[in-house]
Amino acid sequence: MENCIFCKIADGRIKTDAVYEDDKIIAFKDLNPVAPVHILIIPKAHISGVMALTEKDKTLVGEIFLVARSLAEQFGIADNGFRIVANSGENAGQSVPHLHFHLLGGRKLGWPPG
Ligand code: 5GP
Ligand code: ZN
Repeated sequence: MENCIFCKIADGRIKTDAVYEDDKIIAFKDLNPVAPVHILIIPKAHISGVMALTEKDKTLVGEIFLVARSLAEQFGIADNGFRIVANSGENAGQSVPHLHFHLLGGRKLGWPPG
């Protein structure tokens, strides 16, 4: 997608220090972190959000969760706990229309979320 900020990160038009990358997935630190560990994990292909997922994305989403699991260990938040969040649509405050999963940890996270 021409003007999608996360597509630009995924294909290198915007330079980012990736904390994980393979042929289908890239993970990088959030620009405005809301927790000591705040990483975004995204598919490189443009998918506008959770509601745009289809059957063919089943493996991809599973792989994203395994990346989250491994990053949680790498960033030292696996033992104390963490959260994986995918905001979908206006009420959830989704601000970037390219599927992304927030990996949040390093502090006590409130529940229910705001
Ligand atoms: P959403 O609100 O859509 O669930 O999450 C979008 C997230 O992307 C926000 O936490 C925001 O800080 C982050 N973000 C937006 N633009 C950029 C960017 O250019 N680089 C990085 N690293 N994060 C971004
Ligand atoms: Zn995109």
